[in-house]
Amino acid sequence: MPKPVLLLVLDGIRPDVLRAAIRDGDAPNLGALAGRGEAVWDAVSVFPSITPAATAAIATGGAPAETGIVGHAWYDAAQGSVVVYGAMTETVVLTGAIKVFHNNVWRMNRDDLHAATLFETLHESGVDGACVNFPIRRGPHEHPVRMRSVGRYTKGSRYLGVSVKGPKEYYMGDLFYSRDTGANGRKGSGGIRRSVGINDEYAAEIGAILMREKAAPFNLVYFFKGDSIAHHRGIAAQREWVTKADGYVARIFEAGGGVDRVLDEYAVMALSDHGHAPLLPEGRYVELGSIPGLQVSSGSRARFGPGVDVVVVPNGRSALLYLRDGVDRDDLVKGLISRRGVDLAAWTEDDWTIARRLGKELSFRPGDGLTDAYGDSWELDGDPQALDLTVAGDSLEYGDYPDALERLWGCLHTPRCGDVVLSATPGHTFGEVTGGFHTASDHGSLHAVDSEVFVLASGLSEGLRAPHRITDVAPTLLEHFGAEKAEPAGHRVS
Ligand SMILES: [Zn+2]
Repeated sequence: MPKPVLLLVLDGIRPDVLRAAIRDGDAPNLGALAGRGEAVWDAVSVFPSITPAATAAIATGGAPAETGIVGHAWYDAAQGSVVVYGAMTETVVLTGAIKVFHNNVWRMNRDDLHAATLFETLHESGVDGACVNFPIRRGPHEHPVRMRSVGRYTKGSRYLGVSVKGPKEYYMGDLFYSRDTGANGRKGSGGIRRSVGINDEYAAEIGAILMREKAAPFNLVYFFKGDSIAHHRGIAAQREWVTKADGYVARIFEAGGGVDRVLDEYAVMALSDHGHAPLLPEGRYVELGSIPGLQVSSGSRARFGPGVDVVVVPNGRSALLYLRDGVDRDDLVKGLISRRGVDLAAWTEDDWTIARRLGKELSFRPGDGLTDAYGDSWELDGDPQALDLTVAGDSLEYGDYPDALERLWGCLHTPRCGDVVLSATPGHTFGEVTGGFHTASDHGSLHAVDSEVFVLASGLSEGLRAPHRITDVAPTLLEHFGAEKAEPAGHRVS
């Protein structure tokens, strides 16, 4: 029998931040996991390196073009409007924006996610799952909304719903809990504009219960506060928070009989979904709302109205641009790439993906040619310096843009990502679709600073190594359980 799995996802924690905390003795539990198993400090997120896209990649093994979850926001051409999932469920609930709340809790998993989750695939092999707070949680079991105020709202509304599909054990604050644990404070009262108990303290408490009861063979617990702390207060504040996060991990380990016993009995994996790039104190915001010579529509109500040439959907340090038929892409790229804070632009043409940076251009596609560190082979045409690549014999080495070829390829091959994608220079951000922007730190780009993540893993079935890309997490865990992946990779979302 394979060991049960405890998967801990710590949103947005930089590898160097965790490493420093472990070195200083401030994260003894995560340190024990790293010491006992394998620690990968330069694993890689997807592009855009943003939570919905990255958590979908972790839960399914698919790149954004395969999962269909490409960022916080994207333009739905069929619907003719921007879809906004929002950054954090907690924020979404607190702002009371029903449509965003609907998109985040219902639409994203139910309608937009086009790849099978670990919960679904493992269920096929008879392995039950448990999930606490993680945004991507689609599974075979129906879970009713537990908050009466939400239940009331759904009557006669086209938004929200009476239930969601999740794993056997599913917990998200007071909104969903598959059984009463005593941790659900307001018991469904309080209204959807008030706090609904979705927080890291709760995640630790439920995580501990799951371990104490040995409730499921596959357990996924998600901590998100470290990301918002970095956004608002910077990397040093995140470093302080990691001490607290390690305390949450300690509670979960203690409930399972202590760190040594848990590391004996379980396969444990801990990782972040993306990194974080500190922003400049001045001039950090790159405004994409106007482009000379073109009529731009941006913001959460952006659409192709009369005369509109471009719909712009910023996603933190990345941006998705959708062009009206007939608009010259080259003019658009030329107009944007010279702008301060725009690092690189990429798009597809025929069966090539093309990236432009610093006046250099590189076309690439999978095929016989150069092999990279991940074992993928690529055919190149143009200047490898455009993506800071070094060619050495038959192999390809990444510089500032880890796994750049697969990540751009795996973003651009869905219309949901638009016709041109932008990645911001470190220190800069394109902000949120609503027009606001984070002040201290942000993420989303192709650059290493917000793309690199840590992966700590111990106790995996024989022959399995810690994943080096977040898209390798789900395949590794399926292999650990001896389960078959439901669908071959390569399917793209239209
Ligand atoms: Zn974030």
